[in-house]
Amino acid sequence: MKYADLVAAYERLDATTKRTELRDVLAELVRSSTIGELPAVLFLSQGQLRPEYEGVELGVADSLARRAVAEATGVEAPEVLVAQQRSGDLGLTVEELKLRNARSASTPALSVAEVYEKLRAVADARGAGSQEVKVQALVELLARSEPVEAKYLVRFVLGQLRLGVREMTILDALAVAFGDGTKESRRRIEDAFNVSSDLGLVAQTISKGGLDALASIHLEVGRPIRPMLAERSPDLADVLKRMEGAAALEMKYDGLRVQAHIATDGSVRLFSRRLEEIGDQFPELRPALAAAVQHRPAIVEGECVAVDSDTDEIRPFQEISRRRGRKYDLERMQSEIPVSIFLFDVLLDGTTETATLPFPDRRRSLERLIVPGERVRLADQQLVHSVEEAQAYFDRCIAAGGEGVMAKSLAPESAYRAGARGFWWIKYKREYTHGLADSVDGVVVGAFYGKGRRAGRYGALLMAVYDPDQDQFETFCKVGSGFDDATLQALPARLTPFELDSEDPKVRTSLTADRWMRPGLVLEIRGAELTLSPTHPAALGKLRVGFGLALRFPRFTGRFRDDKGPTDATTAQELVRLYQSQVKQASPEEPSA
Ligand code: AMP
Repeated sequence: MKYADLVAAYERLDATTKRTELRDVLAELVRSSTIGELPAVLFLSQGQLRPEYEGVELGVADSLARRAVAEATGVEAPEVLVAQQRSGDLGLTVEELKLRNARSASTPALSVAEVYEKLRAVADARGAGSQEVKVQALVELLARSEPVEAKYLVRFVLGQLRLGVREMTILDALAVAFGDGTKESRRRIEDAFNVSSDLGLVAQTISKGGLDALASIHLEVGRPIRPMLAERSPDLADVLKRMEGAAALEMKYDGLRVQAHIATDGSVRLFSRRLEEIGDQFPELRPALAAAVQHRPAIVEGECVAVDSDTDEIRPFQEISRRRGRKYDLERMQSEIPVSIFLFDVLLDGTTETATLPFPDRRRSLERLIVPGERVRLADQQLVHSVEEAQAYFDRCIAAGGEGVMAKSLAPESAYRAGARGFWWIKYKREYTHGLADSVDGVVVGAFYGKGRRAGRYGALLMAVYDPDQDQFETFCKVGSGFDDATLQALPARLTPFELDSEDPKVRTSLTADRWMRPGLVLEIRGAELTLSPTHPAALGKLRVGFGLALRFPRFTGRFRDDKGPTDATTAQELVRLYQSQVKQASPEEPSA
Protein backbone atom coordinates (compact mmCIF):
# COMPACT_ATOMS: atom_id res chain seq x y z
CA MET A 1 0.00 0.00 0.00
CA LYS A 2 1.21 3.46 -0.78
CA TYR A 3 1.62 5.73 2.23
CA ALA A 4 -0.47 8.25 0.26
CA ASP A 5 -3.43 5.83 0.39
CA LEU A 6 -3.12 5.53 4.16
CA VAL A 7 -2.92 9.31 4.45
CA ALA A 8 -6.03 9.72 2.28
CA ALA A 9 -7.84 7.52 4.81
CA TYR A 10 -6.40 9.65 7.65
CA GLU A 11 -7.95 12.73 6.07
CA ARG A 12 -11.33 11.01 6.18
CA LEU A 13 -10.80 9.80 9.77
CA ASP A 14 -9.75 13.30 10.79
CA ALA A 15 -12.99 14.72 9.42
CA THR A 16 -15.31 12.64 11.63
CA THR A 17 -15.77 11.59 15.24
CA LYS A 18 -18.63 9.16 14.49
CA ARG A 19 -17.65 5.65 15.49
CA THR A 20 -19.51 4.02 12.60
CA GLU A 21 -17.75 6.23 10.05
CA LEU A 22 -14.37 5.61 11.64
CA ARG A 23 -15.15 1.88 11.54
CA ASP A 24 -16.08 1.92 7.87
CA VAL A 25 -12.99 3.84 6.78
CA LEU A 26 -10.84 1.41 8.81
CA ALA A 27 -12.65 -1.59 7.34
CA GLU A 28 -11.83 -0.33 3.84
CA LEU A 29 -8.21 0.17 4.85
CA VAL A 30 -8.00 -3.32 6.31
CA ARG A 31 -9.52 -4.86 3.18
CA SER A 32 -7.03 -3.15 0.92
CA SER A 33 -3.97 -4.13 2.99
CA THR A 34 -1.88 -7.21 2.35
CA ILE A 35 -1.47 -9.61 5.29
CA GLY A 36 2.09 -8.42 5.78
CA GLU A 37 1.07 -4.76 5.87
CA LEU A 38 -1.84 -5.14 8.28
CA PRO A 39 -0.03 -4.63 11.59
CA ALA A 40 1.76 -1.54 10.26
CA VAL A 41 -1.47 -0.03 8.90
CA LEU A 42 -3.34 -0.60 12.17
CA PHE A 43 -0.59 0.41 14.58
CA LEU A 44 0.32 3.53 12.59
CA SER A 45 -3.32 4.63 12.57
CA GLN A 46 -3.42 4.37 16.36
CA GLY A 47 -0.28 6.50 16.63
CA GLN A 48 1.93 3.63 17.74
CA LEU A 49 4.38 1.13 16.29
CA ARG A 50 3.70 -1.99 18.33
CA PRO A 51 1.10 -3.22 20.84
CA GLU A 52 1.11 -0.89 23.81
CA TYR A 53 2.50 -3.50 26.21
CA GLU A 54 5.78 -3.68 24.30
CA GLY A 55 6.39 -0.06 25.29
CA VAL A 56 8.10 0.85 21.98
CA GLU A 57 8.68 4.59 21.96
CA LEU A 58 10.06 6.81 19.21
CA GLY A 59 11.98 9.08 21.56
CA VAL A 60 11.55 12.13 19.31
CA ALA A 61 11.34 15.45 21.14
CA ASP A 62 9.82 18.59 19.67
CA SER A 63 13.23 20.14 19.00
CA LEU A 64 14.48 17.05 17.20
CA ALA A 65 11.40 16.96 14.96
CA ARG A 66 11.89 20.66 14.21
CA ARG A 67 15.48 20.04 13.16
CA ALA A 68 14.33 17.30 10.81
CA VAL A 69 11.67 19.61 9.33
CA ALA A 70 14.25 22.37 8.84
CA GLU A 71 16.70 20.08 7.09
CA ALA A 72 14.08 18.41 4.94
CA THR A 73 12.52 21.68 3.76
CA GLY A 74 15.70 23.76 3.56
CA VAL A 75 14.19 26.38 5.88
CA GLU A 76 16.24 27.73 8.80
CA ALA A 77 15.32 26.19 12.19
CA PRO A 78 14.38 29.55 13.84
CA GLU A 79 11.96 30.23 11.00
CA VAL A 80 10.40 26.78 11.48
CA LEU A 81 9.96 27.57 15.17
CA VAL A 82 8.18 30.86 14.43
CA ALA A 83 5.87 29.15 11.95
CA GLN A 84 5.18 26.34 14.45
CA GLN A 85 4.33 28.83 17.17
CA ARG A 86 1.93 30.56 14.80
CA SER A 87 0.09 27.38 13.76
CA GLY A 88 0.43 25.52 17.07
CA ASP A 89 1.01 22.30 15.09
CA LEU A 90 4.34 21.34 13.57
CA GLY A 91 2.41 19.02 11.25
CA LEU A 92 0.56 21.94 9.66
CA THR A 93 3.81 23.89 9.54
CA VAL A 94 5.68 21.23 7.60
CA GLU A 95 2.75 20.89 5.22
CA GLU A 96 2.75 24.65 4.55
CA LEU A 97 6.50 24.81 4.13
CA LYS A 98 6.49 21.94 1.70
CA LEU A 99 3.66 23.48 -0.30
CA ARG A 100 5.50 26.78 -0.43
CA ASN A 101 8.82 25.27 -1.46
CA ALA A 102 7.35 22.69 -3.81
CA ARG A 103 10.01 20.96 -5.81
CA SER A 104 9.31 18.73 -8.75
CA ALA A 105 8.91 15.34 -7.17
CA SER A 106 11.15 12.89 -8.93
CA THR A 107 11.43 10.45 -6.02
CA PRO A 108 9.25 7.32 -5.97
CA ALA A 109 6.16 7.42 -3.76
CA LEU A 110 6.58 6.22 -0.17
CA SER A 111 5.05 2.87 0.76
CA VAL A 112 3.53 2.07 4.14
CA ALA A 113 6.16 -0.64 4.62
CA GLU A 114 9.02 1.81 4.05
CA VAL A 115 7.57 4.39 6.40
CA TYR A 116 7.03 1.76 9.06
CA GLU A 117 10.57 0.36 8.76
CA LYS A 118 12.14 3.81 8.97
CA LEU A 119 10.05 4.69 12.03
CA ARG A 120 11.08 1.42 13.68
CA ALA A 121 14.70 2.41 13.02
CA VAL A 122 14.01 5.77 14.69
CA ALA A 123 12.59 3.97 17.73
CA ASP A 124 15.44 1.46 17.87
CA ALA A 125 18.24 4.05 17.74
CA ARG A 126 19.84 4.24 21.20
CA GLY A 127 22.96 5.53 22.87
CA ALA A 128 25.71 7.78 21.51
CA GLY A 129 24.88 9.25 18.11
CA SER A 130 21.28 8.05 18.24
CA GLN A 131 19.88 11.59 17.94
CA GLU A 132 21.65 12.02 14.64
CA VAL A 133 20.39 8.66 13.39
CA LYS A 134 16.83 9.65 14.30
CA VAL A 135 17.08 13.04 12.60
CA GLN A 136 18.52 11.60 9.41
CA ALA A 137 15.84 8.90 9.17
CA LEU A 138 13.14 11.53 9.61
CA VAL A 139 14.76 13.90 7.11
CA GLU A 140 14.81 11.14 4.55
CA LEU A 141 11.12 10.39 5.09
CA LEU A 142 10.07 14.04 5.11
CA ALA A 143 12.13 14.91 2.04
CA ARG A 144 10.43 12.17 0.07
CA SER A 145 6.90 12.83 1.25
CA GLU A 146 4.13 14.93 -0.25
CA PRO A 147 3.04 17.91 1.89
CA VAL A 148 0.01 16.15 3.36
CA GLU A 149 2.06 13.01 4.07
CA ALA A 150 4.63 15.11 5.89
CA LYS A 151 1.87 16.60 8.03
CA TYR A 152 0.81 13.19 9.35
CA LEU A 153 4.37 11.92 9.69
CA VAL A 154 5.26 14.82 11.95
CA ARG A 155 2.09 14.45 13.99
CA PHE A 156 2.85 10.76 14.37
CA VAL A 157 6.41 11.21 15.60
CA LEU A 158 5.30 13.84 18.11
CA GLY A 159 2.48 11.62 19.43
CA GLN A 160 -0.12 14.06 18.10
CA LEU A 161 -1.87 11.97 15.47
CA ARG A 162 -5.18 11.77 17.37
CA LEU A 163 -7.39 10.27 14.71
CA GLY A 164 -9.75 8.89 17.34
CA VAL A 165 -8.92 5.31 16.37
CA ARG A 166 -9.36 3.16 19.46
CA GLU A 167 -8.85 -0.56 19.85
CA MET A 168 -12.59 -1.24 20.05
CA THR A 169 -13.19 0.63 16.78
CA ILE A 170 -10.50 -1.45 15.07
CA LEU A 171 -12.19 -4.62 16.35
CA ASP A 172 -15.47 -3.33 14.86
CA ALA A 173 -13.68 -2.73 11.57
CA LEU A 174 -12.17 -6.24 11.55
CA ALA A 175 -15.66 -7.66 12.15
CA VAL A 176 -17.02 -5.68 9.19
CA ALA A 177 -14.12 -6.66 6.94
CA PHE A 178 -13.75 -10.34 7.88
CA GLY A 179 -16.70 -11.35 10.04
CA ASP A 180 -20.15 -12.45 9.00
CA GLY A 181 -21.80 -9.39 10.50
CA THR A 182 -23.07 -11.22 13.60
CA LYS A 183 -22.49 -10.24 17.20
CA GLU A 184 -20.94 -13.64 17.69
CA SER A 185 -18.16 -12.99 15.18
CA ARG A 186 -17.43 -9.59 16.77
CA ARG A 187 -17.20 -11.36 20.14
CA ARG A 188 -14.77 -13.98 18.83
CA ILE A 189 -12.52 -11.26 17.45
CA GLU A 190 -12.59 -9.38 20.75
CA ASP A 191 -11.86 -12.59 22.68
CA ALA A 192 -8.75 -13.17 20.58
CA PHE A 193 -7.64 -9.61 21.30
CA ASN A 194 -8.34 -9.98 25.02
CA VAL A 195 -6.02 -12.95 25.39
CA SER A 196 -3.25 -11.55 23.18
CA SER A 197 -3.50 -7.74 23.55
CA ASP A 198 -2.05 -7.61 20.03
CA LEU A 199 -4.28 -6.16 17.29
CA GLY A 200 -1.67 -6.81 14.62
CA LEU A 201 -1.64 -10.51 15.43
CA VAL A 202 -5.45 -10.72 15.54
CA ALA A 203 -5.80 -8.90 12.21
CA GLN A 204 -3.20 -11.06 10.46
CA THR A 205 -4.67 -14.28 11.83
CA ILE A 206 -8.22 -13.52 10.72
CA SER A 207 -7.11 -12.20 7.37
CA LYS A 208 -5.10 -15.37 6.71
CA GLY A 209 -7.46 -18.03 8.03
CA GLY A 210 -10.83 -16.40 8.73
CA LEU A 211 -12.74 -16.43 12.00
CA ASP A 212 -11.92 -20.05 12.80
CA ALA A 213 -8.20 -19.34 12.76
CA LEU A 214 -8.65 -17.09 15.80
CA ALA A 215 -8.88 -20.24 17.93
CA SER A 216 -5.13 -20.63 17.37
CA ILE A 217 -4.41 -17.55 19.46
CA HIS A 218 -3.55 -18.73 22.95
CA LEU A 219 -2.12 -17.27 26.11
CA GLU A 220 1.59 -16.80 25.83
CA VAL A 221 4.12 -15.96 28.48
CA GLY A 222 5.41 -12.44 27.91
CA ARG A 223 2.22 -11.27 26.22
CA PRO A 224 -0.21 -9.79 28.75
CA ILE A 225 -3.87 -10.72 28.91
CA ARG A 226 -6.41 -7.91 29.24
CA PRO A 227 -7.59 -8.04 32.85
CA MET A 228 -10.92 -9.39 34.00
CA LEU A 229 -12.95 -6.65 35.72
CA ALA A 230 -15.52 -6.59 38.49
CA GLU A 231 -19.05 -5.25 38.73
CA ARG A 232 -20.23 -3.57 41.89
CA SER A 233 -23.20 -4.19 44.08
CA PRO A 234 -24.94 -2.02 46.70
CA ASP A 235 -25.03 -4.61 49.52
CA LEU A 236 -23.92 -8.07 50.50
CA ALA A 237 -27.42 -9.55 50.22
CA ASP A 238 -27.47 -8.52 46.56
CA VAL A 239 -23.99 -9.99 46.07
CA LEU A 240 -25.13 -13.37 47.39
CA LYS A 241 -28.34 -13.32 45.39
CA ARG A 242 -26.41 -12.69 42.19
CA MET A 243 -24.05 -15.54 43.09
CA GLU A 244 -26.93 -17.90 43.77
CA GLY A 245 -26.41 -18.19 47.50
CA ALA A 246 -22.72 -19.02 47.76
CA ALA A 247 -19.51 -17.26 46.82
CA ALA A 248 -15.81 -17.14 47.50
CA LEU A 249 -15.14 -13.87 49.27
CA GLU A 250 -11.64 -12.50 49.13
CA MET A 251 -10.02 -9.56 50.80
CA LYS A 252 -9.95 -6.59 48.43
CA TYR A 253 -6.39 -5.34 48.75
CA ASP A 254 -5.88 -1.67 48.03
CA GLY A 255 -2.78 -1.61 45.89
CA LEU A 256 -1.68 -2.14 42.31
CA ARG A 257 -2.87 -4.95 40.13
CA VAL A 258 0.00 -6.98 38.73
CA GLN A 259 0.01 -9.73 36.13
CA ALA A 260 3.18 -11.78 36.51
CA HIS A 261 4.61 -13.86 33.66
CA ILE A 262 7.20 -16.40 34.77
CA ALA A 263 9.00 -17.94 31.81
CA THR A 264 10.48 -21.44 31.65
CA ASP A 265 13.98 -20.03 32.21
CA GLY A 266 12.83 -18.30 35.42
CA SER A 267 12.78 -14.78 33.97
CA VAL A 268 9.83 -12.73 35.19
CA ARG A 269 7.88 -9.89 33.58
CA LEU A 270 5.31 -7.84 35.47
CA PHE A 271 2.47 -5.95 33.79
CA SER A 272 0.21 -3.28 35.26
CA ARG A 273 -3.55 -3.07 34.87
CA ARG A 274 -2.89 -0.97 31.75
CA LEU A 275 -0.47 -3.65 30.57
CA GLU A 276 2.62 -1.50 30.96
CA GLU A 277 5.73 -3.38 31.96
CA ILE A 278 6.51 -2.44 35.57
CA GLY A 279 8.98 -5.13 36.65
CA ASP A 280 11.82 -2.62 37.05
CA GLN A 281 9.80 -0.71 39.65
CA PHE A 282 9.45 -3.79 41.86
CA PRO A 283 12.71 -5.70 41.36
CA GLU A 284 12.33 -7.68 44.60
CA LEU A 285 9.21 -9.42 43.29
CA ARG A 286 10.94 -11.06 40.35
CA PRO A 287 13.17 -13.57 42.17
CA ALA A 288 10.46 -14.10 44.78
CA LEU A 289 7.92 -15.06 42.11
CA ALA A 290 10.38 -17.26 40.22
CA ALA A 291 11.05 -19.14 43.48
CA ALA A 292 7.41 -19.35 44.54
CA VAL A 293 5.99 -21.09 41.45
CA GLN A 294 6.28 -24.84 41.29
CA HIS A 295 5.73 -25.18 37.54
CA ARG A 296 6.94 -23.03 34.71
CA PRO A 297 5.87 -21.30 32.60
CA ALA A 298 3.19 -19.60 34.67
CA ILE A 299 0.95 -16.54 34.50
CA VAL A 300 -0.52 -15.38 37.80
CA GLU A 301 -2.36 -12.30 38.92
CA GLY A 302 -2.43 -10.47 42.20
CA GLU A 303 -2.51 -7.17 44.01
CA CYS A 304 0.78 -5.65 45.07
CA VAL A 305 0.61 -3.73 48.34
CA ALA A 306 3.00 -2.15 50.83
CA VAL A 307 3.42 -4.27 53.97
CA ASP A 308 4.95 -3.15 57.25
CA SER A 309 8.00 -5.36 57.74
CA ASP A 310 7.79 -5.24 61.56
CA THR A 311 4.10 -5.83 62.09
CA ASP A 312 3.20 -7.44 58.75
CA GLU A 313 0.32 -5.00 58.52
CA ILE A 314 -1.01 -3.94 55.15
CA ARG A 315 -0.22 -0.31 54.51
CA PRO A 316 -2.54 2.19 52.77
CA PHE A 317 -2.50 2.66 49.00
CA GLN A 318 -0.66 6.00 49.27
CA GLU A 319 2.50 4.13 50.30
CA ILE A 320 2.78 1.79 47.34
CA SER A 321 1.88 4.65 45.04
CA ARG A 322 5.21 6.24 46.05
CA ARG A 323 6.98 3.32 44.37
CA ARG A 324 4.90 3.42 41.20
CA GLY A 325 6.68 4.93 38.21
CA ARG A 326 9.92 5.38 40.16
CA LYS A 327 13.18 4.92 38.27
CA TYR A 328 15.77 6.09 40.81
CA ASP A 329 16.51 5.38 44.43
CA LEU A 330 15.02 1.94 43.99
CA GLU A 331 17.13 0.30 46.68
CA ARG A 332 16.26 2.85 49.34
CA MET A 333 12.59 2.60 48.41
CA GLN A 334 12.72 -1.20 48.63
CA SER A 335 13.79 -1.02 52.26
CA GLU A 336 11.58 1.96 53.11
CA ILE A 337 8.44 0.64 51.47
CA PRO A 338 8.64 -3.15 51.18
CA VAL A 339 5.90 -4.72 49.07
CA SER A 340 4.25 -8.11 48.80
CA ILE A 341 2.00 -9.51 46.12
CA PHE A 342 -1.23 -11.24 47.14
CA LEU A 343 -2.06 -13.64 44.32
CA PHE A 344 -5.71 -14.18 43.45
CA ASP A 345 -5.69 -15.92 40.07
CA VAL A 346 -3.75 -18.23 37.78
CA LEU A 347 -4.13 -18.19 34.00
CA LEU A 348 -1.32 -20.51 32.98
CA ASP A 349 0.02 -23.27 35.20
CA GLY A 350 2.89 -25.09 33.52
CA THR A 351 1.49 -26.19 30.22
CA THR A 352 -2.15 -26.06 31.38
CA GLU A 353 -4.20 -23.06 30.30
CA THR A 354 -6.17 -22.62 33.51
CA ALA A 355 -7.91 -19.41 32.37
CA THR A 356 -10.73 -21.46 30.85
CA LEU A 357 -11.43 -23.35 34.12
CA PRO A 358 -14.13 -22.27 36.60
CA PHE A 359 -12.86 -20.11 39.45
CA PRO A 360 -12.82 -22.83 42.19
CA ASP A 361 -10.57 -24.98 40.01
CA ARG A 362 -8.29 -22.04 39.33
CA ARG A 363 -7.98 -21.31 43.04
CA ARG A 364 -7.07 -24.94 43.74
CA SER A 365 -4.51 -24.81 40.97
CA LEU A 366 -3.09 -21.56 42.41
CA GLU A 367 -2.76 -23.15 45.85
CA ARG A 368 -0.86 -26.09 44.35
CA LEU A 369 1.31 -23.85 42.19
CA ILE A 370 2.49 -21.41 44.84
CA VAL A 371 4.71 -21.94 47.84
CA PRO A 372 3.91 -18.74 49.74
CA GLY A 373 6.63 -16.65 51.39
CA GLU A 374 7.11 -13.13 52.65
CA ARG A 375 6.91 -11.43 49.25
CA VAL A 376 4.51 -13.77 47.48
CA ARG A 377 1.33 -14.74 49.27
CA LEU A 378 -2.13 -15.99 48.46
CA ALA A 379 -5.13 -13.67 48.69
CA ASP A 380 -7.11 -14.38 51.83
CA GLN A 381 -10.31 -16.22 50.96
CA GLN A 382 -13.41 -17.65 52.60
CA LEU A 383 -16.41 -19.47 51.17
CA VAL A 384 -19.67 -17.95 52.42
CA HIS A 385 -23.24 -19.17 52.24
CA SER A 386 -25.16 -16.45 54.10
CA VAL A 387 -25.27 -12.69 54.44
CA GLU A 388 -24.22 -13.03 58.10
CA GLU A 389 -21.09 -14.98 57.14
CA ALA A 390 -20.36 -12.48 54.39
CA GLN A 391 -20.78 -9.52 56.74
CA ALA A 392 -18.48 -11.06 59.36
CA TYR A 393 -15.80 -11.70 56.73
CA PHE A 394 -16.20 -8.18 55.33
CA ASP A 395 -15.70 -6.70 58.83
CA ARG A 396 -12.56 -8.81 59.30
CA CYS A 397 -11.16 -7.61 55.97
CA ILE A 398 -11.72 -3.97 56.84
CA ALA A 399 -10.06 -4.46 60.22
CA ALA A 400 -7.08 -6.07 58.47
CA GLY A 401 -6.55 -3.05 56.21
CA GLY A 402 -8.55 -4.16 53.17
CA GLU A 403 -10.70 -1.87 51.06
CA GLY A 404 -13.59 -4.30 51.20
CA VAL A 405 -14.21 -7.68 49.61
CA MET A 406 -14.20 -9.20 46.15
CA ALA A 407 -16.87 -11.81 45.71
CA LYS A 408 -16.12 -14.49 43.13
CA SER A 409 -18.62 -16.75 41.48
CA LEU A 410 -18.30 -20.50 42.00
CA ALA A 411 -20.47 -21.31 38.96
CA PRO A 412 -19.25 -23.65 36.20
CA GLU A 413 -19.26 -20.59 33.87
CA SER A 414 -16.86 -18.65 36.08
CA ALA A 415 -13.90 -18.87 33.67
CA TYR A 416 -11.46 -15.98 33.53
CA ARG A 417 -13.14 -13.41 31.25
CA ALA A 418 -10.24 -11.42 29.85
CA GLY A 419 -11.07 -7.78 29.26
CA ALA A 420 -14.66 -8.14 30.45
CA ARG A 421 -16.59 -6.60 33.31
CA GLY A 422 -19.28 -8.86 34.67
CA PHE A 423 -21.02 -10.20 37.75
CA TRP A 424 -18.63 -13.18 38.00
CA TRP A 425 -16.56 -10.87 40.17
CA ILE A 426 -18.33 -8.32 42.37
CA LYS A 427 -16.59 -5.71 44.46
CA TYR A 428 -18.10 -4.43 47.66
CA LYS A 429 -16.21 -1.65 49.38
CA ARG A 430 -16.27 0.11 52.70
CA GLU A 431 -17.53 3.39 51.21
CA TYR A 432 -20.70 1.59 50.15
CA THR A 433 -21.72 1.43 53.78
CA HIS A 434 -22.23 5.20 53.98
CA GLY A 435 -23.24 7.91 51.50
CA LEU A 436 -22.86 7.31 47.79
CA ALA A 437 -22.09 3.70 47.05
CA ASP A 438 -18.73 4.03 45.35
CA SER A 439 -16.12 6.50 44.28
CA VAL A 440 -16.10 7.44 40.61
CA ASP A 441 -12.97 7.34 38.47
CA GLY A 442 -13.46 10.51 36.42
CA VAL A 443 -11.48 11.86 33.47
CA VAL A 444 -10.27 15.46 33.49
CA VAL A 445 -11.60 17.20 30.35
CA GLY A 446 -11.21 20.84 31.36
CA ALA A 447 -10.04 23.19 34.10
CA PHE A 448 -11.18 26.48 35.60
CA TYR A 449 -8.87 29.18 36.90
CA GLY A 450 -8.96 29.74 40.66
CA LYS A 451 -10.03 32.82 42.53
CA GLY A 452 -9.01 34.21 45.94
CA ARG A 453 -6.36 31.98 47.53
CA ARG A 454 -6.17 29.95 44.36
CA ALA A 455 -5.72 32.92 41.99
CA GLY A 456 -3.12 32.15 39.35
CA ARG A 457 -3.66 28.40 39.73
CA TYR A 458 -6.36 25.99 38.74
CA GLY A 459 -9.33 26.17 41.09
CA ALA A 460 -11.53 23.36 39.80
CA LEU A 461 -11.52 20.58 37.22
CA LEU A 462 -14.26 19.50 34.85
CA MET A 463 -14.75 15.75 35.16
CA ALA A 464 -16.28 13.23 32.78
CA VAL A 465 -17.25 9.57 32.66
CA TYR A 466 -16.70 7.45 29.54
CA ASP A 467 -19.46 6.14 27.30
CA PRO A 468 -17.98 3.20 25.34
CA ASP A 469 -21.03 2.90 23.06
CA GLN A 470 -20.62 6.43 21.75
CA ASP A 471 -16.87 6.57 22.43
CA GLN A 472 -17.28 9.93 24.15
CA PHE A 473 -16.61 11.60 27.49
CA GLU A 474 -19.62 13.09 29.27
CA THR A 475 -19.21 15.50 32.18
CA PHE A 476 -20.79 14.81 35.58
CA CYS A 477 -19.23 17.39 37.91
CA LYS A 478 -16.82 20.23 38.52
CA VAL A 479 -14.51 19.30 41.37
CA GLY A 480 -12.58 21.82 43.49
CA SER A 481 -12.49 20.16 46.93
CA GLY A 482 -10.04 17.66 48.24
CA PHE A 483 -6.91 19.22 46.71
CA ASP A 484 -4.24 19.99 49.29
CA ASP A 485 -1.70 22.74 48.63
CA ALA A 486 0.99 20.40 47.36
CA THR A 487 -1.43 18.78 44.89
CA LEU A 488 -2.66 22.17 43.68
CA GLN A 489 0.92 23.27 43.18
CA ALA A 490 1.75 20.16 41.18
CA LEU A 491 -1.47 20.20 39.14
CA PRO A 492 -0.36 22.43 36.23
CA ALA A 493 2.63 20.18 35.50
CA ARG A 494 0.37 17.10 35.63
CA LEU A 495 -2.12 18.73 33.25
CA THR A 496 0.25 20.38 30.73
CA PRO A 497 0.56 17.31 28.48
CA PHE A 498 -3.22 17.28 28.05
CA GLU A 499 -3.90 20.98 27.43
CA LEU A 500 -5.81 21.86 24.27
CA ASP A 501 -6.79 25.14 22.64
CA SER A 502 -10.34 24.03 22.05
CA GLU A 503 -12.76 21.43 23.35
CA ASP A 504 -11.84 17.86 22.47
CA PRO A 505 -14.35 16.54 19.89
CA LYS A 506 -15.08 13.51 22.06
CA VAL A 507 -16.18 15.61 25.04
CA ARG A 508 -19.85 16.33 25.77
CA THR A 509 -20.59 19.18 28.17
CA SER A 510 -22.71 22.30 28.43
CA LEU A 511 -20.04 24.13 30.44
CA THR A 512 -17.19 26.20 29.03
CA ALA A 513 -13.88 25.45 30.69
CA ASP A 514 -11.16 28.11 30.95
CA ARG A 515 -8.72 25.50 29.66
CA TRP A 516 -9.73 22.41 27.73
CA MET A 517 -7.95 19.11 28.30
CA ARG A 518 -7.54 16.06 26.11
CA PRO A 519 -9.13 13.19 28.08
CA GLY A 520 -6.20 11.39 29.69
CA LEU A 521 -5.80 11.99 33.41
CA VAL A 522 -8.05 9.92 35.70
CA LEU A 523 -8.86 11.00 39.28
CA GLU A 524 -10.83 9.23 41.96
CA ILE A 525 -13.79 11.36 43.03
CA ARG A 526 -16.19 10.84 45.89
CA GLY A 527 -19.47 12.66 46.43
CA ALA A 528 -22.63 12.85 48.50
CA GLU A 529 -25.09 11.59 45.89
CA LEU A 530 -25.93 11.41 42.23
CA THR A 531 -28.80 13.57 41.02
CA LEU A 532 -30.65 13.99 37.74
CA SER A 533 -29.19 17.07 36.09
CA PRO A 534 -30.19 19.36 33.22
CA THR A 535 -26.58 20.66 33.14
CA HIS A 536 -24.36 17.60 32.95
CA PRO A 537 -24.79 15.18 30.03
CA ALA A 538 -23.42 12.01 31.71
CA ALA A 539 -25.78 9.17 30.69
CA LEU A 540 -28.03 11.77 29.04
CA GLY A 541 -31.59 10.54 28.58
CA LYS A 542 -30.84 7.09 30.03
CA LEU A 543 -32.93 7.79 33.14
CA ARG A 544 -35.08 10.72 32.08
CA VAL A 545 -35.42 12.53 28.74
CA GLY A 546 -33.32 15.71 28.71
CA PHE A 547 -31.49 14.89 31.96
CA GLY A 548 -28.05 13.55 32.67
CA LEU A 549 -26.42 12.69 36.00
CA ALA A 550 -24.41 14.99 38.27
CA LEU A 551 -22.43 14.25 41.42
CA ARG A 552 -23.27 16.53 44.35
CA PHE A 553 -20.50 17.78 46.65
CA PRO A 554 -17.72 16.13 44.67
CA ARG A 555 -14.38 15.73 46.35
CA PHE A 556 -11.00 14.49 45.05
CA THR A 557 -9.86 11.56 47.23
CA GLY A 558 -6.19 12.43 46.60
CA ARG A 559 -5.81 9.39 44.40
CA PHE A 560 -4.55 9.88 40.84
CA ARG A 561 -5.55 6.72 39.00
CA ASP A 562 -2.42 6.56 36.87
CA ASP A 563 -3.13 2.86 36.50
CA LYS A 564 -6.18 3.74 34.39
CA GLY A 565 -6.35 5.23 30.92
CA PRO A 566 -9.28 7.48 29.96
CA THR A 567 -11.32 4.61 28.55
CA ASP A 568 -10.81 2.62 31.78
CA ALA A 569 -12.60 5.34 33.77
CA THR A 570 -16.06 4.80 35.25
CA THR A 571 -18.54 4.43 32.40
CA ALA A 572 -21.84 6.26 31.90
CA GLN A 573 -23.56 2.87 32.30
CA GLU A 574 -21.86 2.29 35.65
CA LEU A 575 -22.97 5.74 36.78
CA VAL A 576 -26.56 4.79 35.97
CA ARG A 577 -26.22 1.64 38.09
CA LEU A 578 -24.73 3.65 40.95
CA TYR A 579 -27.69 6.03 40.75
CA GLN A 580 -30.11 3.12 40.73
CA SER A 581 -28.51 1.44 43.74
CA GLN A 582 -28.76 4.76 45.57
CA VAL A 583 -32.44 5.36 44.80
CA LYS A 584 -33.20 1.81 45.90
CA GLN A 585 -32.11 2.91 49.35
CA ALA A 586 -33.62 6.43 49.43
CA SER A 587 -36.87 8.00 48.24
CA PRO A 588 -36.89 9.35 44.67
CA GLU A 589 -35.74 12.92 44.43
CA GLU A 590 -36.45 15.89 42.22
CA PRO A 591 -34.00 16.90 39.55
CA SER A 592 -31.45 19.55 40.50
CA ALA A 593 -28.64 21.27 38.61
P1 AMP B 1 -11.59 -1.30 41.19
O1 AMP B 1 -10.18 -0.88 40.80
O2 AMP B 1 -12.16 -0.48 42.31
O3 AMP B 1 -12.48 -1.42 39.99
O4 AMP B 1 -11.52 -2.78 41.80
C1 AMP B 1 -11.02 -3.87 41.09
C2 AMP B 1 -9.57 -4.08 41.45
O5 AMP B 1 -9.43 -4.59 42.77
C3 AMP B 1 -8.87 -5.14 40.64
O6 AMP B 1 -8.50 -4.65 39.37
C4 AMP B 1 -7.66 -5.47 41.50
O7 AMP B 1 -6.62 -4.56 41.21
C5 AMP B 1 -8.13 -5.16 42.90
N1 AMP B 1 -8.17 -6.32 43.83
C6 AMP B 1 -7.80 -6.28 45.11
N2 AMP B 1 -7.99 -7.46 45.71
C7 AMP B 1 -8.48 -8.31 44.77
C8 AMP B 1 -8.88 -9.68 44.78
N3 AMP B 1 -8.81 -10.44 45.86
N4 AMP B 1 -9.35 -10.20 43.61
C9 AMP B 1 -9.44 -9.45 42.49
N5 AMP B 1 -9.07 -8.14 42.43
C10 AMP B 1 -8.60 -7.57 43.56
